[in-house]
Amino acid sequence: MIDLILRHATLADGRKNIDVGIQNATIVAVEPNLAAVAAQEFDLAGDLLSAPLVDAHFHMDSTLSYGLPRINQSGTLLEGIALWGELKPQLTQDAIIERALAYCDWAAAQGLLAIRSHVDVCDDRLLAVEALLEVKRQVAPYLDLQLVAFPQDGLLRSPNARQNLVRALDMGVDVIGGIPHFERTMADGAESIRLLCELAQQRGLMVDMHCDESDDPHSRHIETLASHCHRLGLSGRVAASHLTSMHSMDNYYVSKLLPLIREAGVAAIANPLINITLQGRHDSYPKRRGMTRVPELLAAGIEVAFGQDCVLDPWYGLGSADMLEVAHMGLHVAQMTGQEAMRACFGAITDGPATILGLERYGIAVGAHADLVWFDASDPVEAIRLRANRRMVLRRGNIIAKTAAKSTALSLPGRSNNISLRIKPGAIG
Ligand SMILES: [Zn+2]
Repeated sequence: MIDLILRHATLADGRKNIDVGIQNATIVAVEPNLAAVAAQEFDLAGDLLSAPLVDAHFHMDSTLSYGLPRINQSGTLLEGIALWGELKPQLTQDAIIERALAYCDWAAAQGLLAIRSHVDVCDDRLLAVEALLEVKRQVAPYLDLQLVAFPQDGLLRSPNARQNLVRALDMGVDVIGGIPHFERTMADGAESIRLLCELAQQRGLMVDMHCDESDDPHSRHIETLASHCHRLGLSGRVAASHLTSMHSMDNYYVSKLLPLIREAGVAAIANPLINITLQGRHDSYPKRRGMTRVPELLAAGIEVAFGQDCVLDPWYGLGSADMLEVAHMGLHVAQMTGQEAMRACFGAITDGPATILGLERYGIAVGAHADLVWFDASDPVEAIRLRANRRMVLRRGNIIAKTAAKSTALSLPGRSNNISLRIKPGAIG
């Protein structure tokens, strides 16, 4: 007898009628008509079963601070930066921990069980670093939190950023961050990339930089990052977040750039909700979308993830820790409406970021962690279309969240009250 069997699941890769057996927090069987008996069984009746959702780019030190000390009235990046400057001196460790834990509750409830969060290291007190290391420890039983030492005000531009970043790494922060486009000059940006990549090589760490987050078609930090990554042998350990300037770059130049990124083994992380909101603000009409070239990056064989970036903070007054909402926006902004492209959008919130974060034993396979999400949907595309409820979330074989299937008690004369948004097109009437 094994612990648990989830029967008649559809997997994200299209396999149907699959039974998944779980024993001792590990997946021990993935096959049709599993003959074993379990202490507990659930019949998914063809619903989608997936490995957990993963967010490759988030800012947990500012999340849920919306309205503190005041609301961003204009909704612009500049007022957001000013607001964060007002808020930073007032931050307390307890408040950061409380908000981050509340966010992790939202995440776990929706099957988001791994998050890479940047943490600002430009405050000499490193309050946020200490707070998020404590959060990481507390949520470890149900959520993998990976932290990036992020010199938000510039590694070279902000007086103590370099030594603070090293202090944060010594305290246990996992990944090296950067923000080359925010340094004083293009040359300083390039120098910050060199310093950070060499530090990553010395310490054997991963790198994830905010890179070319602007509408400037001449921003070239991704080229520099790929070059240092190639030179130092950091392939597979480096990610470039945002890359929004690539949206505006010359097409000929991008045709040279994509193979360089691929050759260097650098991954790309787009943040559709925030990129579509903050980019193109200096444009009149036509107005650029500003998100990086996701279909082209994928076609070039580059690992791609979609990140949430912000939820209810000085920069963004919306968001809900739902990665299906992120994929939904990414799909629309990138016009990824082909069948394969829509499934790739689901990959950008599951397998893609899992690879970028280096998550071990991730996926639905024998020997993987029994971390699973049962969606109120038949396949990944329907999950994105409906931002489907997560019927059940499992971590290491334990059920940590349950949500009922969506249903509405419709009361209209002459109409059935039994409606389902899951009905396939063509199957109605
Ligand atoms: Zn960010």
